[in-house]
Amino acid sequence: MLRPIVIYPDPRLLLKSKPVTQFNDELKELAREMTETMRDANGVGLAAIQIGEAIRMMVMDEHYDLEDKGESLALCNPVVLAEEGTETIEEGCLSIPDVREEVERSFKVKVKGQNLDGVEKVYDFEGLLARCILHEIDHMDGKLFIQKVPAVKRLFLKKQLDELKANYKQAARL
Ligand code: ZN
Repeated sequence: MLRPIVIYPDPRLLLKSKPVTQFNDELKELAREMTETMRDANGVGLAAIQIGEAIRMMVMDEHYDLEDKGESLALCNPVVLAEEGTETIEEGCLSIPDVREEVERSFKVKVKGQNLDGVEKVYDFEGLLARCILHEIDHMDGKLFIQKVPAVKRLFLKKQLDELKANYKQAARL
């Protein structure tokens, strides 16, 4: 089932998500819905708060560049253990449609997290996947990528962000 994506400036995007403690069928169903929603929106990753669930869970397409992506990776309670190098490339967010800007992030990350059965694993990612993990962990802490854009560049985003705010107000009146 597709779930509606929470769109900026919805205040839920500022929430700090709580750790996942129940590794049950409900969690697996949520991961399935998140994967379906992410792929339908052509995203590479999605944090649970982006469909309104304030828990520290994310899904990511490890094989985003393949036609048959197979299963997505679901990661609970991710923690960054190590980071290496930096890269500045354009980034976007399914919760902030049509806004893209260059953001500097680590090029390589080592991350510890639990799978949907609660089993802890350590993962190494680089490039887009490292960026995706860091972006989703930011969501779990109520942070958005536009906050990482230098103030001067953020001025150029103001018009688009104001439009999203205006749309949000309109939608909220329905
Ligand atoms: Zn995002």
